Order: sequence, then structure tokens, then C-alpha cells
Amino acid sequence: MSKVLAVLFKGGEYNTAKLLGSAENALGLRSFIESNGRTLFATADKEATLDEHIKDAEVIITTPFNPAYISKERIESAKNLKLLVTAGVGSDHIDLDYINKSGRKISVLEVTGSNTSSVAEHALLTILALVKNFIPAHKVATEELGWDIAKISRDAYDLEGKVVATIGAGRIGYKILERLAPFKPGELLYYDYQGLSPELEAKVGAKRIDTIEELVSKADIVTINAPLHAGTKGLVNKELLSKFKPGALLVNTARGAICDAQAVADAVKSGQLRGYGGDVWFPQPAPADHPWRSFTNKFGGGNAMTPHVSGANLDAQARYSLGVKNILTSYFTGKKDYRPQDIILLDGEYATKSYGNDKKVKDVK
Ligand code: NAD
Repeated sequence: MSKVLAVLFKGGEYNTAKLLGSAENALGLRSFIESNGRTLFATADKEATLDEHIKDAEVIITTPFNPAYISKERIESAKNLKLLVTAGVGSDHIDLDYINKSGRKISVLEVTGSNTSSVAEHALLTILALVKNFIPAHKVATEELGWDIAKISRDAYDLEGKVVATIGAGRIGYKILERLAPFKPGELLYYDYQGLSPELEAKVGAKRIDTIEELVSKADIVTINAPLHAGTKGLVNKELLSKFKPGALLVNTARGAICDAQAVADAVKSGQLRGYGGDVWFPQPAPADHPWRSFTNKFGGGNAMTPHVSGANLDAQARYSLGVKNILTSYFTGKKDYRPQDIILLDGEYATKSYGNDKKVKDVK
């Protein structure tokens, strides 16, 4: 019997029936998968257990929240592999370029749109938390039992009137622009090799900027919403950070490896950035000494990091579990009538323009 391997996050002592995304609950898909004549092995161990079970897996389900890094070596060891499904959005934990070049007919799909609102809301929350100096204020009120207004107010502002820029204006980037517009920002700017239509630009009042350097030099707040691929890895490095408006805020809910972690922490410490926040790290889980766990700005704030939770709330888990079921249904029936927007690689060929403008993309419509 062929095998579906699911590598998800551990529910452990916090597991409940609603926590569909845990390894214990296996997206609520155990009986569905078994009734389709497959065995299901679900685990949260993305090292030794993954290496053992990948060898005869036909389908592998992974999640960005506890990412099983599906490297070249792992793909080579998975001789029966046909389908990789990402329970969520963002498949950079899989060596997509290697599959593409290998000639193997492996497909990679994700549940596009399943948690885009969840992430847009979290990005907005993070922007507001940093602008308002909220986290240090909460600490004063609770941990410190204090009442020091000046301690917080010396580094707190309004969002209204500020220039906000997004690197990437796809589904999440655009939803962030939509949510920012009612705050009456000074300007909304974006940089993306795939431009928005004039109608979509007008709806939120966003302006396209031709170069990333110009974008970051104009913005009080920059938010990153592009996938991680060869063209975005390490994109926000020391050099690009030096082009930011001094004292700008940076929010990244896309992928940790888009930023040079030490350069970002150093920029906050030096004051080049006033703060940094987001929920994505590299690697995940991040080690205890990861520079983003401890940096602060000169006022003791400016750090709005969380673990990778924005796209994994209960509403999002329900949506991406259903989306995985739909993808598996298309695969098990042999119809492969996938939603075009879910396909990253189809039989090894790129089917999306989002993973870099250097990719040959096959039209799947
Ligand atoms: P999308 O495909 O709709 O949009 C991505 C956009 O980024 C596209 O318009 C693409 O052209 C653009 N882009 C790609 N490379 C770029 C570059 N070098 N410079 C500027 N723009 C570039 O994807 P989406 O649904 O908006 O998701 C974006 C990313 O967010 C995902 O790939 C994933 O990494 C991340 N994400 C994070 C979470 C989370 O829980 N934190 C959840 C979902 C998605």
C-alpha cells in the first residue's frame, strides 16, 4: 500500500480536537486518506523519523510552521515521491529548483489563499505594535507594575500620515495595503516585478516604485510579502538596510531568510531601524541564541517577534486542512484537476510566476 507521510507541528499537551494542524490530528484527514487505500504516517519529527519514512512515501504533506526541509538529498532518497503538499502557503522549505532541474515528475502544491487574511492581520498588528511602542507599554503595565508614561511615549507615534511600503504585492501584500488604507497613511508604495492593475492600485491608492532601493529610501514602514526564492534570499542585507530611511520600521511575515538576521538586529541596535517584527525565522525552530530573540532598540523596545504563528490560527488551520483534502482528492482520483493557483510545480515544471522572474513558467490553465 502506498504511503502518505505528514510532517506537521506537535500538539502535545496543548492538543485539542480543533487543532487540526497538529501531527496528532493529521489535518483531520486520517480516515479520508485510509479510505483511499493509502497508509498515513504523521509525525512532528522532521529529522530522523522523516528520513526513515520519506524513503517509500508517495505523497508528503509538510507545513511552513514546523518546516520539514525537503532537501535535494531527501528528494533523492524518496524514490516513490509524486506529490508534495504544503499545508499552508509558501513552499520554499522544499528544494523547488532541484526538483525542477532533476527531470523528476514531482508536483508541489500549496493551499493558496488559505491564510492570507490571517497573515495580513498579523502584519498590521505588528506594524501597529511597533509604531505605538505597544509591547514595552504592556510590560510596564503588567510585569513592571509601573506607570511611566514618558518611558513609552518617547518612542510612540501614529500610523496616520506615515509612508508604508511593501516588497511584494501579491495576495498578502495587497491585503495589507487594503487594511492600511483606512488608517490614512501618507503614501502606500509597492515594489513587485508583477505590477498591480491600475484598478487595484486605485482601489487602495498604492503607487508602484521601480527599484527596491528607492522604495526603502522613501518609507517610514517597510513590510516584506514576497516568497523566499533565489532572488529574495538575503535580499534585506547590510547594504540595503543602509538605504532605509533612518529610524524606519521593518515587518517581515514572509520568510526569515529574506533578511540577514544579524544585519537586521544590528540595524535596530544602531538606530538605523527603529524596530523589527514578524513571525518568520530561519531556521525554524530558531535556536535560543538567534539574534532576533534578544535585540532591542536604544529605548529597550523595537522587537515585535513571535514564533511562526500568523498563518496557523484555528480559522487558518480549518481552511488549509480542507484545501489539502481537496488537493489529495484531485490526486487520488487521478483527475489532477487542481486549482491552478495552488500549483507551484506540476510534474516538475514551474506553474507560478511568484517564485522569481527568472523561472520558465508553464501555463496550467
Ligand atoms: P503571492 O504569490 O500571491 O504573492 C507574492 C508576490 O511576491 C508576487 O506578486 C510576486 O511577484 C512577488 N515577488 C516575488 N519575488 C519578488 C521580488 N524579488 N521582489 C518583489 N516582489 C516579489 O503569495 P502570497 O500569498 O502573498 O504569499 C507571499 C509569501 O508569504 C509566501 O510565499 C510565504 O512565504 C509567506 N507566507 C507567510 C505566512 C505566515 O504564516 N507567516 C503564511 C502565508 C504565506
